[in-house]
Amino acid sequence: MKLYNTKTRSKEDFIPLQEGQLKLYACGPTVYNYFHIGNARAFIIFDVVRRYFEYLGYEVSYVQNITDIDDKIIEQAISEHRDFHEIADKYATAFLEDCAMLGIKPPTHQPRATHVMPQIIALIDTLVQKGHAYEVDGDVYFDTASLPEYGSLSGKQIEDQMTGARVAENTQKKHPADFTLWKKSKPGEPVWQSPWGEGRPGWHTECVVMSQHYLGESFDIHGGGIDLVFPHHENENAQAMALTGKPLARYWMHNGFLNIEGEKMSKSLKNFFTARDILEEYDAEVIRFFFLSKHYRSPIDFTRELIEESGKALQNFYKALSSVDFLSLKRTEITLSEILDVEKGFRDAMDDDFNSAKAIALLFDLAHRIRDARQEQTHREEAALMLVKLGKVLGFFQNLQSRLQDNMHDLSKQLIDLILGYRKEARANKDWALSDRLRDDLLALGIVINDSPGGSTWELRN
Ligand code: AMP
Ligand code: ZN
Repeated sequence: MKLYNTKTRSKEDFIPLQEGQLKLYACGPTVYNYFHIGNARAFIIFDVVRRYFEYLGYEVSYVQNITDIDDKIIEQAISEHRDFHEIADKYATAFLEDCAMLGIKPPTHQPRATHVMPQIIALIDTLVQKGHAYEVDGDVYFDTASLPEYGSLSGKQIEDQMTGARVAENTQKKHPADFTLWKKSKPGEPVWQSPWGEGRPGWHTECVVMSQHYLGESFDIHGGGIDLVFPHHENENAQAMALTGKPLARYWMHNGFLNIEGEKMSKSLKNFFTARDILEEYDAEVIRFFFLSKHYRSPIDFTRELIEESGKALQNFYKALSSVDFLSLKRTEITLSEILDVEKGFRDAMDDDFNSAKAIALLFDLAHRIRDARQEQTHREEAALMLVKLGKVLGFFQNLQSRLQDNMHDLSKQLIDLILGYRKEARANKDWALSDRLRDDLLALGIVINDSPGGSTWELRN
């Protein structure tokens, strides 16, 4: 398998630290509001990474944090006139609900920053002891000049930041690139006791503690959106390097943005739609399809036309599966070499830096094969089994049974309406014998016809 490593800016062979095991960390949300559909892209992509490794037979340990202490949460608490714990809890719960609605499998561990406060303080203390951090009047900063590797992930030079930084920004820091590890609290803010007085941790430290706690000091893949490369991931990695001499992760994966009218969808630009609102309009599976039909590193434009196209495309899978009566299939084994080759193609696509767009194209080939009347019956069944097997790797078909049943129900309704149309024609022609026969035959199936001067309606017999 090859995956694009942001650190080296190239596709590299993936070699796990321990054979057969994947240790994956992806940055989760800061819970001060409902998350938007751009954030959902990141959550869905890493859900697919996790699912694909599981399909390959890896034992996956997937950690996603919840940042439940942050300036933005404090601001939101003030604006909602509520305690900051309440705000964090409210939006953390909403986050979990929305992820479930999106069909995202719960990560193996989902720690919250406020639950690991002693470990956070201990980590900062160690950095101070080792000479990689310094305290100024209750604030603690990471000393970037103490780490020659600083900038190695993002490719930024400390000097670049010197020129870019506003001199007056913070006169306490030794260097403009130095970042906050511990922040002295202002009156009225939530506080934790520390060797440097009352305060709270910086975001970059929280992720180091939560990832290392579950995955060890160095793990396989660290992920997030491309906006996190600098400063967040650079600063996470710097702390790990300073602590252990090892990078926090071997591979750094970053998804591209969901844009809206050419701009990144973001809370600060106020150009966002919450995942919650979008899920009122569209099925979660359609949203997943919309994201996975593009490579995860490419930017995607949010347009309703594209989402609606995704809905239509996805319907092809269900039409194909309905045409073989998938729900009644007894067999489970797939032996035909042509179909097994499709699985190989799927793996090749996913092994090439998670090319889900190519993988989906292969699912369409299977759907066409199923609907191609010339195919032998058994081939269609095997193709249907493979379509479902591979679709599930991408997180599709989570409600297959009910979706197919719904499709059948819709079809049945359409058929009844069709028969009522024929009966209307028969009555217009005064063909009472045919009209009665159609009514009686439907009644035998439990469908009652009610005739009235305005026309005929039907209902199911109780
Ligand atoms: P945040 O709550 O802002 O820290 O974001 C949570 C995750 O969503 C991070 O991995 C971000 O990089 C990612 N993200 C934020 N905005 C977008 C966007 N417009 N498109 C794709 N990913 C995003
Ligand atoms: Zn993080």
